[in-house]
Amino acid sequence: SAKFFVGGNWKCNGTHASVEKLVADLNAGEVPSDIDIVVAPPFIYIDWVRANIKSAYEVAAQNCWTKPDGAFTGEISAEMIKDAMVPWVITGHSERRLLLGESNRTVGLKTGHALEVGLSVIACIGETLEQRNSGHLYDTIDIQLQALFENVQDWGRVVLAYEPVWAIGTGVVASPAQAQEVHAYVRKVLTDRLGKSRAESIRIIYGGSVTDANCGELATQEDIDGFLVGGASLKAPSFINICNARG
Ligand code: 13P
Repeated sequence: SAKFFVGGNWKCNGTHASVEKLVADLNAGEVPSDIDIVVAPPFIYIDWVRANIKSAYEVAAQNCWTKPDGAFTGEISAEMIKDAMVPWVITGHSERRLLLGESNRTVGLKTGHALEVGLSVIACIGETLEQRNSGHLYDTIDIQLQALFENVQDWGRVVLAYEPVWAIGTGVVASPAQAQEVHAYVRKVLTDRLGKSRAESIRIIYGGSVTDANCGELATQEDIDGFLVGGASLKAPSFINICNARG
């Protein structure tokens, strides 16, 4: 299976002091050398984290803009992220979709633009509880993936994160079977569109209340190639354990 991937999405958390402590604690821990680990600090701390975290860790931005530059107050472009030597960006996180009003089209455009600029992208998809309970799980996933297919030429630098909204920050983790079912569906869609070997090389990672207690069983599922971790990525011992989930 594809190289294991663990992302830590710090969201809008941290102070200079807490970020320094977290990086010191991550630097002191042992993580496997044969996996990809990416942490996503708030923009204002990224440069410091990039310069001070050990080489086992790469850094990501949590968002980017669709244009290179211009009169877009408050936005940060993919070009700037690249210029700051940050290799990754997260697009389409449900908090941006639902709290900041990002449409599928915007997420597709951001993803396509970031890839064109040369960034690697962690593109997030996932349904709300209402969508799942009303029988719209798979068409929600289809529509989100379609917006990506319209904008992505090269899937080689894309990691897909399946994050069911009802599992994010709730403590209600998807069961291994629930997560695997959706991951297998995403794999099938990728296979139909891109062919088997390309589809198998794309990491499909799970996010939503992942902890060091539940990651082991999730990691054994055939189509789960890693995790996108929120809350537990702010605690170095937990995050390091999750990085070691495959033992
Ligand atoms: P939690 O791990 O806090 O549920 O957050 C998941 C997430 O949204 C990662 O992007």
